[in-house]
Amino acid sequence: MDITFNCPHCGLSLEVDQDAAGQQFDCPTCHKPLTVPAAPVVAPRSGVPAATPSASAPREEKRMAVPASQKPIGSLIQKPNKSLELAAKESKPGMRVKTLRHSDCKDGGKDRFDEVVSEFLNKIGDQAIVSITPINYSYLDTATQKLLTDFGVMVIYRG
Ligand SMILES: [Zn+2]
Repeated sequence: MDITFNCPHCGLSLEVDQDAAGQQFDCPTCHKPLTVPAAPVVAPRSGVPAATPSASAPREEKRMAVPASQKPIGSLIQKPNKSLELAAKESKPGMRVKTLRHSDCKDGGKDRFDEVVSEFLNKIGDQAIVSITPINYSYLDTATQKLLTDFGVMVIYRG
């Protein structure tokens, strides 16, 4: 490890081996006697400038802590937005409506409405059922050409 110092007479930057610490010799430029500073003398010199950045380093860390604490807040704000988007994506395409009309479940005079509704509910499963709403509707009977009133159910489910 070399010792770097300046000539006190002419300011020449000199670099000597650490073994030469404390020795005296003439400056190669101004030819005046020089004393090589000991290594411990050099260490505080490098320690002083090193201590200044380290003393200001905690202040920088404190300043960094403020934006660092803001970043988690920003990420916390973003996370709920993502979860809301995911929730919307999951619910919107999954919601389905099935309307079962009594008039569509008459098979050759047989009333299969309850059977059809039961089959449908068993097919989608009770976990998928969101709501079942009774409906009343009017339809034109093709045989009698009369407007008839009938009933049915509207099933909202996840599918
Ligand atoms: Zn000199």
